Amino acid sequence: MEKLTVDAIRAAGVVGAGGAGLPVHVKADAAASTVLVNGASCEPLLTSDPYLMETQADTLLRGLRAMMDATGANRGVVCLKGKHAAAMGSVREAAARLGDGLVDVFELGDFYPAGDEQVLVYDVLGGIVPERGIPLQIGAVVSNVETLCNVAHALEGRPVTHRYLTVCCEVARPMMLRVPVGTRVAEVLDFAGGPTRPDCVVVDGGPMMGRVLSDTDQPVTKTTSGLLVLPPHHPVVARKIMDPRSVWRLTSTVCCQCSHCTDLCPRYLLGHSLHPHRLMRLPPDEAAASPLAREALLCSECGVCEKYACPMGLSPREVNAQLKRQLMAGGAKWEGGGRQLAASSFRSIRRIPTSRLVQRLGLGGYAEHSPFAGDYTPRKVRIPLRQHIGAPAVPVVRVGSDVRAGDLIGEIPEGAMGARVHASISGGVTAIENGMITIVARGR
Ligand code: SF4
Ligand code: SF4
Repeated sequence: MEKLTVDAIRAAGVVGAGGAGLPVHVKADAAASTVLVNGASCEPLLTSDPYLMETQADTLLRGLRAMMDATGANRGVVCLKGKHAAAMGSVREAAARLGDGLVDVFELGDFYPAGDEQVLVYDVLGGIVPERGIPLQIGAVVSNVETLCNVAHALEGRPVTHRYLTVCCEVARPMMLRVPVGTRVAEVLDFAGGPTRPDCVVVDGGPMMGRVLSDTDQPVTKTTSGLLVLPPHHPVVARKIMDPRSVWRLTSTVCCQCSHCTDLCPRYLLGHSLHPHRLMRLPPDEAAASPLAREALLCSECGVCEKYACPMGLSPREVNAQLKRQLMAGGAKWEGGGRQLAASSFRSIRRIPTSRLVQRLGLGGYAEHSPFAGDYTPRKVRIPLRQHIGAPAVPVVRVGSDVRAGDLIGEIPEGAMGARVHASISGGVTAIENGMITIVARGR
């Protein structure tokens, strides 16, 4: 049964929908005692996970039970915030319907980043994941809500072809919707009534960890959770497009070493050896050579230091990201493991309320919840062969092939880690180029 579950997940191309896209069959093939459902939805304004928990709780729990069976876990916990009362009600009722006593519900506080895997594991299970480690090291697997719904579909032979996402801020009709993977971002924005001003910038993901899109011709992927449309000078955007050299220049001239970034860092508060204020005083040209620089490997890039803590408008997150890239390119590894970790006694009073974060980000004027507007189906999709961690999929169709929605179009390369890719609409394959397969619907 467990092997069948892992095979079904692999066949359906399920990847982590809430992060970088780890192929889920890899996670499902491990042994764990607990599976946590990450329903924190902690990025402000993104609301598809609470919607799915409210409207598809039974599907979610089928996916959870499948993941528990696959990993051998005897406990499942759905973790979500009390403010999502309707979702909470639906999940509790679905858990009661299961009636096996193996699935609990855990109410999270409304803080950022409640959904950081390591923060979640500590809040729910009380264990600290080792530095640079993964939850599995303390017996836990953490899965996102939409991921587990996709696992449930996989058991029915239904591959991942669609994505729920939120489109909000400067669009005429902020909404949540479901679109085929490969839909152009520009078409999604049009469906939401279009930007309300001509100079808007689009952030793929949430305001804290999302990235600015270079253009709207790009496709929605299995990991696209939201599209925030914002004015070009909005604080959320400004920090994301700052020239990396300016970040270092500002850092070395402006940082007053107040250490607020460290005091509020969620990883530091879990006892990890990460002190962003110390990294900020490293000389830019020699920073990566300092033994201290390795602390940057522990940074989750949650953005608390950059967007909330620093009174000088600096970005320890970006400094850490640059250091991390340099260190990893040089093959550096974290060597400080094995230490007994203890969370800070200040942790509970230094958590960041989402409502205050929203105000600080300048997002207070935008609707916190976007209603579900249904499905949008485009005439053409461009489906990336790589939407996941690992090797790109290898095309198994040719230009001119006819495909139906759900057909396999990209296979995992022999012996590699990766994820399968499937047609998200029916039609003809018109191009295979630049790592994408284009499908155009016939007769529409
Ligand atoms: S981004 Fe900043 S606050 Fe977040 S983990 Fe990294 S150093 Fe800490
Ligand atoms: S919060 Fe800002 S000014 Fe203070 S130490 Fe950190 S980077 Fe420097």
